[in-house]
Amino acid sequence: MSGKLYLCATPIGNLGDVSARCLEVLSSADLIAAEDTRRTLQLLNHFGITKPLTSYHEHNKREKGGYIVSLLKDGKNVALVSDAGTPAISDPGEDMVKLCIENGIEVTSVPGPVAAVNALILSGLNASRFAFEGFLSVNKRHRREHLESIKNDTRTLIFYEAPHKLKNTIADMQSAFGGNRRIALARELTKIHEEVMRCTLDEAAAYYEENAPRGEYVIVVEGAAAEKSETENEWNDVPVKEHVERYISQGMTVKDAVKAAAADRNVPKRDVYNEYHKED
Ligand code: SAM
Repeated sequence: MSGKLYLCATPIGNLGDVSARCLEVLSSADLIAAEDTRRTLQLLNHFGITKPLTSYHEHNKREKGGYIVSLLKDGKNVALVSDAGTPAISDPGEDMVKLCIENGIEVTSVPGPVAAVNALILSGLNASRFAFEGFLSVNKRHRREHLESIKNDTRTLIFYEAPHKLKNTIADMQSAFGGNRRIALARELTKIHEEVMRCTLDEAAAYYEENAPRGEYVIVVEGAAAEKSETENEWNDVPVKEHVERYISQGMTVKDAVKAAAADRNVPKRDVYNEYHKED
């Protein structure tokens, strides 16, 4: 019988965030596959765990993936650990999961920290609907096309970013989303220098003209302003005639009042005109 692949979430900074079950799984696995063996070794040493450790990262995932699958097929249990946080979220763990599924090997998760979710809940932005966008491409054109394609998304958007690319990314976001869009820059989460800066894109750009970005960042961006749907339009409760007359009473011509009312109600001018002139 095949063994199991355990996707073990590890701390994104504070070692106290490791779960009891994660330690139990790491202690009992036949092999630990780690994205960054040095970092994982620190974790294992801290908790006194000694287990065979192998690397599994972006540059060896093909050969190493095959090797890990062969061990799993031999009945060994393997714990997969990423650099930090939850494996398969913006790291090669995703490929390992696909490979196991293709080979009929059971995969299970040991939940824990994810930088994106923690940044979202601290952002103060709408957390009920959000989209995780991961890392933007290093290619300028692809990055801009990506941002253009999501500029009208009304969900909160979450990005990962490295400090040396932060300023360019903020500039590209200003161009795509407009400088008034609110953001939260969550930095060094769960660590001593944890900080969440809540501001607009323009304010963030001005701040990083004066201050060098430091540490690991998650950028949380407010979604685009939603156009009011027909059912949400507050003018729906006001009869059309009364609506037009309100503008006329403010000194507008009938033509301008019809135009303004049509814009408020998000309907064609002709409809408002016809309704206004309809006999009671
Ligand atoms: N798998 C991880 C997770 O579950 O969040 C993410 C791995 S991804 C390769 C690394 C990126 O996550 C960093 O560049 C940064 O954007 C974000 N990140 C990781 N730890 C962080 C922290 N403590 N504070 C802020 N962002 C962090």
